[in-house]
Amino acid sequence: MADTTPMPLVAGANVPPGGQYLPLFTTYVNPSAQERVAAVLQSTFLSEGKLVKEFETRLSAELGMVNPAALNSGTSALHLALEVAGIGAGDEVILAPQTFIASALTVVQVGATPVFADIQYNTGNIDPADIEHRITPRTKAIMAVHWGGYPCDMAEIKAIADKHNLVVIEDAAHSPGAVYQGRPIGSISDYTCFSFQAIKHLTTGDGGALCALDPEKAREVFRRRWFGIDRANSPMNEVGEREYDLFDVGYKYHLNDYSAALGLANLDGFHERMTRRRALVQQYNEGLQNVAGITHFERKADRESAHWLYGFHVENRLQFIRTLKANGIAASVVHDGIDNNTLFGSKRMELSNQRRFDETQIHIPLHDNLTEEQVDYIITTIKQGW
Ligand SMILES: *Cc1c(COP(=O)(O)O)cnc(C)c1O
Repeated sequence: MADTTPMPLVAGANVPPGGQYLPLFTTYVNPSAQERVAAVLQSTFLSEGKLVKEFETRLSAELGMVNPAALNSGTSALHLALEVAGIGAGDEVILAPQTFIASALTVVQVGATPVFADIQYNTGNIDPADIEHRITPRTKAIMAVHWGGYPCDMAEIKAIADKHNLVVIEDAAHSPGAVYQGRPIGSISDYTCFSFQAIKHLTTGDGGALCALDPEKAREVFRRRWFGIDRANSPMNEVGEREYDLFDVGYKYHLNDYSAALGLANLDGFHERMTRRRALVQQYNEGLQNVAGITHFERKADRESAHWLYGFHVENRLQFIRTLKANGIAASVVHDGIDNNTLFGSKRMELSNQRRFDETQIHIPLHDNLTEEQVDYIITTIKQGW
């Protein structure tokens, strides 16, 4: 994955406004985090406590997540979702290759098999029309990854899932704050998994959240994120041990309070940051319309992307990347289709849209430190050709 390490400007490069190389991502840390995290350190209450609870309350109140359980990573959220959904050895999960390996890796971790479906060339999201013929008696779930933050066709996916009695799991690592047909991501499917990793919109350093719609399943998530012990209902007895009976496998997946303190600080002003992000996207959209060699992704009126990435299809991609680099601007595919990994079958599947997408998709900088002037510079550079 592209990281945020500042790159030196290449010799002879044009210098962007600000005098620095423009990275694809930056890590956002709200200034108030210094004090909030310091207070946790001062208190010496570092592990899961009231700040994790407060973080969850705000995720639900401010971002519309249903029953969010704060975890130590997005990967833990995916793994726990599969576990709580009862997916295991011999089962199959249908997902698209256009994602980070964590999506399919967690399927393998529970003993199930990832079955890859094609994407839509104009979004990078799973194509609902390519799902149904891949369903077998072993299929248990559809995993929908909102590529770059743009919501998948959830209505079509849900209709297929209902017809075949499948669970829907959203990998929403790129899409906190996204909205689909008026509903926030995190309130739609059986399970929704978020990541609070350093270069995601809302970071806790590392962290994640799992939303389970069914309250019973949500209780199971909370229990199994902490070894399988129901913390709230396992009182300490006189000899100093909690009273509980472990009856299934749990994990050490909870978030801790100093990470939650960072998350709480970063929730302050989240909507303002998203508004600013949308304005930068609008600036790109206007500046880059009708540029020869660029084909924009789909943007439907019934959904609002979280805009983690600003991407499109480009002709002559390598030359495009080199031209931008020579002008001090990052450009990256972020991820290629993951289906060729040895663990997932070691060959590129015959998925025609995914293969075309691998050849042409590209992303340019979009993050909190980016200024309008820098976006103008990027637009001007691109319009000069490559
Ligand atoms: C970042 C990411 C993950 C993993 O999240 P972590 O918090 O790093 O474990 C999963 N899926 C996608 C699509 C991601 O981008």
